[in-house]
Amino acid sequence: MRRPLVAGNWKMHGSRQSVDALLQGLAAQEWPEGVELMIAPPALYVDRCCEQLQGTPIQVGGQVCAAQAEPGALTGEISPAQLRDAGCAYVLVGHSERRSLFGETDEVVCRKFAAALASGLCPVLCVGETQAERDAGQTAEVVGRQLQAVLDVFGVGGLAEGVVAYEPVWAIGTGLTATPEQAQDVHAMIRARLAILDDEQARKVQIVYGGSVKGENAEALFAMPDIDGGLIGGASLNAEEFGAIARAA
Ligand code: PGA
Repeated sequence: MRRPLVAGNWKMHGSRQSVDALLQGLAAQEWPEGVELMIAPPALYVDRCCEQLQGTPIQVGGQVCAAQAEPGALTGEISPAQLRDAGCAYVLVGHSERRSLFGETDEVVCRKFAAALASGLCPVLCVGETQAERDAGQTAEVVGRQLQAVLDVFGVGGLAEGVVAYEPVWAIGTGLTATPEQAQDVHAMIRARLAILDDEQARKVQIVYGGSVKGENAEALFAMPDIDGGLIGGASLNAEEFGAIARAA
């Protein structure tokens, strides 16, 4: 009953020229039925992507947004309403790079989640533990705390309006993919935690995996019962590989 989502996070990569080439490559791919598809380009290229992806099944997302939907004196920020106005359907919130490099706390992430929903965007809430936290046996605690901030305000029903991306920090950009079993363990733990609060809604929450997903490991990951697709970084910059990952979902 849950449709898989395969999303690409382009991070701070690309130029007008390379973005156009990537969009052309994406247009040439065959996309599977029944899989939701999204790419999150740098904000400057959102317009270009929305225009050029019209008529394809690929939706566009922001990588980040302000913690409020209303316009305001926030130099340099982009509101979720502006992303929506540009044609975006999604926005990433709480990516580990935002948490660790830009000081986004659980509280800020929750406000961004709220602002995204209020603006009609689907927020993709990223959670995940560091290597040190995993080694210390704190994975469930850390991921649980990151989720709880949003659950306290929105409950499981509100969370189900967005997407959860489990992205172990040690697997992001390192080539160290979590094994399908490691990822499934955490996805199942997340769903079990949500089910205690609201079993019916918990079954609806899309939980995607992120961290060094590639064409060659996607199928085994996506075959796991609680893994509902992926959030793809590096490999999403290659149209053929992103297409292959989507077809594995
Ligand atoms: P990666 O990045 O696929 O390059 O590991 C994933 C992410 O940061 O979303």
